[in-house]
Amino acid sequence: MGRLTLVDGRVLDYEVRQSARAKYLRMQLHPDKGLVVTQPLGIGTRQVQDWVDSQRTWVATTLDKIEREIPPATSDSPLPERLELLANDESLRVIYTPTARKNIGLDYVANQTLTLSGAISNPEHCQLALRHWLRGYANIHLGKQLQQLAAETGLHYSNYSVKHQQSRWGSCSSSGNINLNAKLVLLPPDWVRYTLIHELCHTVEMNHSKRFWALVAGFAPGYKAIHAEMKGAMQRLPEWTKSG
Ligand SMILES: [Zn+2]
Repeated sequence: MGRLTLVDGRVLDYEVRQSARAKYLRMQLHPDKGLVVTQPLGIGTRQVQDWVDSQRTWVATTLDKIEREIPPATSDSPLPERLELLANDESLRVIYTPTARKNIGLDYVANQTLTLSGAISNPEHCQLALRHWLRGYANIHLGKQLQQLAAETGLHYSNYSVKHQQSRWGSCSSSGNINLNAKLVLLPPDWVRYTLIHELCHTVEMNHSKRFWALVAGFAPGYKAIHAEMKGAMQRLPEWTKSG
């Protein structure tokens, strides 16, 4: 690890990777990985520092270029600058990098960044890519949590799937198949917990009878307030999450 201070005062930590194959010192600046310096064998730490310092101008220019590629954050922007995955207490910076590829590639670094690269000029294509990614993310996290809650409550489901429903947070079929909305991962953890418990309780009570609500209350005593807050929450989510 090292630290580089640019002429304009910006400070950048960099990672030094030793390489037996490298012949020369080199550096790369990634939107997600940051500044990485490759140190060949036989080159000392002091030499690395001096060389990195001498590359200040290149680093500043490249950093400016990366920052320009991020769309400006405006309230009516169709694309998010950050993803707040509240359910999992994870906040991601979203980076948009145009490259020559014909489709959109996604690169996810947990708790840090989600990079969309390639054909990113059409905001609708980016929205679609983001929704697709969110569904995969939700599938993993909601699936894990559903399994945990089933064990905790002793309620059994047959299968689960995660989709981008337009009006429902979840549903449960008479055969015990639970459908969950991918957008749930954008909601607070206790809201998600309540939704999963709600659907798990439907594996026993296929209705919204008194018996059903008593069952829910047994596992989630504070459910009433959450249930009320969740009404209309889907409409308040950012634009890019809407539609299929
Ligand atoms: Zn229900």
